[in-house]
Amino acid sequence: MSNIIAIVGRPNVGKSTLFNRLTESRKAIVDDFSGVTRDRHYGVGEWTDKQFTVIDTGGYVSGSDDVFEAAIREQVLIAIEEASVVLFMVDVTVGVTDLDDEIAKVLRRSKKPVFVVSNKVDNTALHNETGVFYSFGLGEVHAVSSMTGSGTGDLLDEVIKHF
Ligand code: GDP
Ligand code: MG
Repeated sequence: MSNIIAIVGRPNVGKSTLFNRLTESRKAIVDDFSGVTRDRHYGVGEWTDKQFTVIDTGGYVSGSDDVFEAAIREQVLIAIEEASVVLFMVDVTVGVTDLDDEIAKVLRRSKKPVFVVSNKVDNTALHNETGVFYSFGLGEVHAVSSMTGSGTGDLLDEVIKHF
């Protein structure tokens, strides 16, 4: 497979909402790499003349903070391995959390292109808050609202340059 976009990030940032927006058809594939990597959803999407597969990561086990962090770490490592492009989603209404920083640390070692996606930028006032995410050291911050679709076209324009 090629042209694979993986969406990673801590719970509730809006990964599945973006996944649903980017994919028209959803393959009911749920890979079971191990206990902590359930619920990886694969969908197919297209933008201009490019077709791609989107992976929505999630399905984290509950448990201690350590287990939780390890689960997310594993998701991110698998995403880096499988994907051609990684979307690192964060939530502008929350800002930078410790877990975001942990994920960023893993992603900085990735040889694959990583796009920082600041989600829930539903209005222009929130646009001004996206600057905090430059602290990840992962380059440009792409502001989107997965709910309204604002910014997602501009993001895809950049992403498909890697396909
Ligand atoms: P996930 O856990 O990362 O997959 O996050 P979800 O896609 O399940 O979304 C978590 C919550 O954030 C849901 O209540 C969504 O409706 C909400 N949400 C997702 N995207 C946006 C957005 O762009 N703006 C706002 N205001 N809410 C959003
Ligand atoms: Mg989800």
